[in-house]
Amino acid sequence: MSGLSINFDKSSLIPINCEEQWVERMCNLLGCKGDALPVKYLGIPLRANPRRVNTWSPIIDKVEEKLSLWKAKVLNKAGKLVLIKSVLNSLLVYYLSLFKMPKAVAEKLISLQRRLLWSSEEGRTGMALVKWEVVQAPKKLGGLGVGDAMVMQEELIPEEVTRYSFTRTIWKGLVPPRVELFVWFVLIGRVNTKDRLSRFGIISQDNVTCVLCNNEVEDVRHLFLGCVFAWQVWSDWILRIDERAFS
Ligand SMILES: [Zn+2]
Repeated sequence: MSGLSINFDKSSLIPINCEEQWVERMCNLLGCKGDALPVKYLGIPLRANPRRVNTWSPIIDKVEEKLSLWKAKVLNKAGKLVLIKSVLNSLLVYYLSLFKMPKAVAEKLISLQRRLLWSSEEGRTGMALVKWEVVQAPKKLGGLGVGDAMVMQEELIPEEVTRYSFTRTIWKGLVPPRVELFVWFVLIGRVNTKDRLSRFGIISQDNVTCVLCNNEVEDVRHLFLGCVFAWQVWSDWILRIDERAFS
């Protein structure tokens, strides 16, 4: 992948209890359009309950589509392995880093991977050549290195995310739950900044400069505090509060 840039057609500013005029000014400053809640993030509604299997159906659909059986006709085993790994890495890393996946969903995803890998040329279900555990095991242990959705999850989601309820009590009533959730992701560095994506190997390490100022490494701290663009937004906001207080 060659790197990231902001697609302004796809970006939007979602104001919570902000004045229309201010929103308009910020949209101009950032070069994006305004939007309203509820918002979907990568196909999943931000407020959706990740413990419900239903919430994951857009992801299951996407994986199913990407690992569809017609591809079995044009790919050999090695090609199928590359495809399975790339789908797991590119698609799942995003979701797994944000939401805790139910076991049933992981099992469904694994069954889709298995089906493609062992399908015959005619697209029919073929016979498994080795146990799935071997397919998942890392290469250095003699496996094929596909990885396990549940294991990946353990690596990506630290305890702190599951202890989210703690911050909820601090924020309670101040902001809507989706804002609370996003701020929590920001605080624990779980926002997919370029710095984070490059650490997961999703984008190149040569391209981690901030999309807004193109000047410094884009990590959470920079994006929300250090960046000159972020500061324009914050200072304008503080100024507005100031105006209100003294008018
Ligand atoms: Zn910046």
